Amino acid sequence: MYKKKTTPQASSTVEKKKSKKSPIPQLIRGMKDTLPEDQPWWEATRDQVRAFANAYSFERIDTPILESTNLFERGVGHDTDIVQKEMYSFVDQGGEHITVRPEATASVIRAYIEHGMRNKPQPVKLYYYGPMCRHERPQFGRYRQFYQCGFESLGDQHPVLDAEMILIGHRLLKTLGIAATVQINSIGDEVCRPAYQTVLKNFFKKNRKTLCESCKRRLHKNPLRILDCKEVKCQEVAQEAPQIVDHLCDACRAHFVGTLEHLDELEILYELNPRLVRGLDYYTRTAFEYWYQHENFGDKVSLGGGGRYDKLAETLGGRHTPGVGLALGIERIVLLMRELKNYPIIGFHPDVFIAQLGEQARKKALRLFEDLRASGIKVRQFFARDGLGVQLGIASRLGAKFTLILGQKEILDQTVLVRDMETGSQEVVAYEKIVWDVQKRLK
Ligand SMILES: [Zn+2]
Ligand SMILES: [Zn+2]
Repeated sequence: MYKKKTTPQASSTVEKKKSKKSPIPQLIRGMKDTLPEDQPWWEATRDQVRAFANAYSFERIDTPILESTNLFERGVGHDTDIVQKEMYSFVDQGGEHITVRPEATASVIRAYIEHGMRNKPQPVKLYYYGPMCRHERPQFGRYRQFYQCGFESLGDQHPVLDAEMILIGHRLLKTLGIAATVQINSIGDEVCRPAYQTVLKNFFKKNRKTLCESCKRRLHKNPLRILDCKEVKCQEVAQEAPQIVDHLCDACRAHFVGTLEHLDELEILYELNPRLVRGLDYYTRTAFEYWYQHENFGDKVSLGGGGRYDKLAETLGGRHTPGVGLALGIERIVLLMRELKNYPIIGFHPDVFIAQLGEQARKKALRLFEDLRASGIKVRQFFARDGLGVQLGIASRLGAKFTLILGQKEILDQTVLVRDMETGSQEVVAYEKIVWDVQKRLK
């Protein structure tokens, strides 16, 4: 094959030199930096999560990002995609099997058991906000390190708690400007699910040839997961599958009906979704998700969800502790917030900007800055710059109401020049009265 080779000697030497230099380290795949200009949206999610938690009496808990691998194998389930394929696990220097948490519910239950929280009044209501890691294929708003906020209500099994959980996530998204639909299903419990799984297995066995390779494997271990397979051919088969709601035991049926009645009372619109099973082993009875119909992505985008996990504590070796929880993915929420622009992001606008001219003025200006700040006045400066024009430009860009100007003359006279940024009018004020003067002007 003919290949044109015109590279001159000189440039190939340069290339050789370049390749010797080790490359500049870069982000690893699936990770991202959250830059200062992105932070206002993140801050908004943190503020609203905290506000909702306070309003609904959830207390904050922070668990470590590293846990023993065993916690997730037992808690999340050995045969789940998370444990089989997605965990960042390693053996540490001391020989311990460690995993970077792929989710936080198992950790919260571990903490509940470990700190004897069953001795507190039940339910114990906890919330968290933090990073998790899963080695998944990166896609729309999905990273390998991602943030989740979550709410967990532990130690009581009344359906009103399921409804409250669904309400919190729905209203939190709404407050952030995202109108999501609630998808809800009941996946039964250890009493009624095994019989349903047999019914389901028999149904899918008849359609085995149509199923994708993963689903053929799921057929034996976890036929429920075939219901939410993303392959079109599997979805078509699943459409016709028997539904668990027709196979619930009396207790599960009563719980499901109770949850829906509370949702009706709260006027939360929900869609019954018989194929919603969630990918984690620990769910019992209620399972729900929040979906947003995104026109550019054809499909519905899941922003998070949750469910009841009455057996999780026992799976981890604790006593029977019913619980219900939800988790929301912050990356996707932030993406949608930026796109939809329904949530007002209010930037920081200082009351006062301090402009200074010359070395002496700069010294005094730093002192003045501190006096104003300590008096509760929102103040900004850019002492690294000297020109008045430049500094006034910064002041107006920041939206400062007044600029206090300190120059050679003001230092000699012990005064400050106060410039009204809206009208441009200027007034000389005695330095000793400046804090009081600014406070008066801001009223
Ligand atoms: Zn499939
Ligand atoms: Zn049941």
